[in-house]
Amino acid sequence: MYCPFCGDSETKVIDSRLVAEGNQVRRRRECQECGERFTTFESAELVLPRVIKSNGRREPFDEDKLRGGLLRALEKRPVSLEVVESTLNRIKHQLRATGEREVKSRVVGEWVMRELRKLDDVAYVRFASVYRRFQDVDEFQEEIDRLRGAGKSDISASDVVSEDKPVLAGQSREQPDV
Ligand SMILES: [Zn+2]
Repeated sequence: MYCPFCGDSETKVIDSRLVAEGNQVRRRRECQECGERFTTFESAELVLPRVIKSNGRREPFDEDKLRGGLLRALEKRPVSLEVVESTLNRIKHQLRATGEREVKSRVVGEWVMRELRKLDDVAYVRFASVYRRFQDVDEFQEEIDRLRGAGKSDISASDVVSEDKPVLAGQSREQPDV
């Protein structure tokens, strides 16, 4: 590690300790040339793969965006923020576990749907209705019927399609942010 003051390459670690609950090492270093001291922090590199959008664009994985998407789907549902965070962590873990440098956003979307499905039926259909770009109301209704048939909670289309956000209106064809 070069000295940030004089650029000399000989610096010596004079103190080293774990910080951030053991996730980081804080090192105090001293330059052997100019005698200045400085601090470095070292942590494992856990870079998440980039996300390939459906239009081919690559973007860094955006945790805040995904959190926003989850919270929108779970709006007014009986799911705690803590559960949302652990869901988010599971998805990030899955992303890292791929070992890939780039992952298709569609794949991430499928993981999100799987998580939401375990968590809350209404949130799942809300997310899926946008994500899978249901072609028409019949297809959308089929999904709801399928959930009902599986003995899950009773969901009606009105639970899913809120008046201010008509996801099936045809204009709103945006994918959820993942
Ligand atoms: Zn120096």
